[in-house]
Amino acid sequence: MAEPRTPEEVVARARRAADLPDLDGAISGCFACPRLVTWREEVARTRRAAFRDQEYWGRPVPGFGVSDARIAILGLAPAAHGGNRTGRIFTGDRSGDVLFAALHRAGLANQPTSVARDDGLALRETRIFSAVRCAPPDNKPTPGERDTCAPWLHRELALIRPTLRVVVALGAFAWAAWWPALRAVYGIHPPSPRPAFGHGAHWSGTAVPEVLGCYHVSQQNTFTGRLTPRMLDEVFTRAKQVAGVD
Ligand code: SF4
Repeated sequence: MAEPRTPEEVVARARRAADLPDLDGAISGCFACPRLVTWREEVARTRRAAFRDQEYWGRPVPGFGVSDARIAILGLAPAAHGGNRTGRIFTGDRSGDVLFAALHRAGLANQPTSVARDDGLALRETRIFSAVRCAPPDNKPTPGERDTCAPWLHRELALIRPTLRVVVALGAFAWAAWWPALRAVYGIHPPSPRPAFGHGAHWSGTAVPEVLGCYHVSQQNTFTGRLTPRMLDEVFTRAKQVAGVD
């Protein structure tokens, strides 16, 4: 099938993805959201001065991590000069610096930094992906873009469903993106009313992953002290406990 260019084609291609490498390749070739395609390519063309000599990825950013993950980390979307530049989620930006340092302290990453796709970073028991796979202007995808991208998320969750035990939702957008997955992936009704997002919020059901809320690792939160390394360590300690990871 050609590269997806409509929401219907995203649905069909996601459904056909046989495994994570197939899914990752299909996501990387998606053109279904005109506004985001324009933006990701514009950013890749104009570049930030500090990265002027680099070739930007400029495409959707697939998930990263192991295929039998017990822990999933769900973010919002790639950063314009982070994932959209390097081609790997949370790679090459300040948010990633904070996240991977915490994962390394938790024993879930083999190194505390994430700077490029060939930097040797490997995760343990963990996979990271975002609700929307293209960098959006102002980090704000529209509800329509979120819904168009959801089949990629749902297929990724379905492929790691056998091992997945806990999802860490980074921020309110990711928290909200989780609930439709309950119906799409697990065939159960989402709770009503939806549990409110907050740092430390958690929800568990029967035979579905537990969900933990965590403030997003954005500079807005980490530079202001709203989210501290200790708070992140507590979230990942809890995630490991839930997932049965040593
Ligand atoms: S946001 Fe998702 S659905 Fe939209 S173009 Fe990017 S990968 Fe495709």
